[in-house]
Amino acid sequence: MITEKLQKAINDQITAELWSSNLYLQMSYFLEKEGWSGCAHWMMKQSEEEKEHANELAHYLIKRGGEAKVSMIDVVPAGWGSVLEVFEHVYKHECHVSELINDLVDIASAEKDKASQDFLWGFVREQVEEEATASDIVAKIKRAGESGLFFIDSQLAQR
Ligand code: MG
Repeated sequence: MITEKLQKAINDQITAELWSSNLYLQMSYFLEKEGWSGCAHWMMKQSEEEKEHANELAHYLIKRGGEAKVSMIDVVPAGWGSVLEVFEHVYKHECHVSELINDLVDIASAEKDKASQDFLWGFVREQVEEEATASDIVAKIKRAGESGLFFIDSQLAQR
C-alpha cells in the first residue's frame, strides 16, 4: 500500500504530465499552422507520449492500492516566435520535468518506499533521453539555419 503523501505527489505528477501533453499539443497545432508538418507530427507524438506517462503513473498507483486522480489542468502557453523558439521551450520544459521527477524520487525515498523508488528510476532514465533528444534538435536547428529547416522538418516527420 502506498502512503498518502506519495499518492498525492504521484497524482500531482499525473497533472504535470497531462499539462506537458497539452503544451506539446498546443505546439503541434502552432507548427501545423506555420506549415511545418514534420515538426507538428513529432510534437503530436511527444504529446501522446506525455499522456502515456500520466497513464503509467496512474496504473502504478492503482496497482499499489492507491487512487489515481485527474485534476484540473491549467491553460498552456500558445504562440512562439520561431521553430527554434518552440524546441528551446521543449528543452527548457523537459529540464523542469526532470526536477519534478527527482523531487518525486526524494519523496519515495523519504517514505522508505522501495518499490516506488524502483518504479520512478524508469522516469529518471526517461528524462535523460528527453533532455538529450530536445537539446539535439535545438542544436540541429541552429546549425541548419533558416534554409536548412526543411531538411529537419522532413527528418522529424519520420518519428
Ligand atoms: Mg513525461
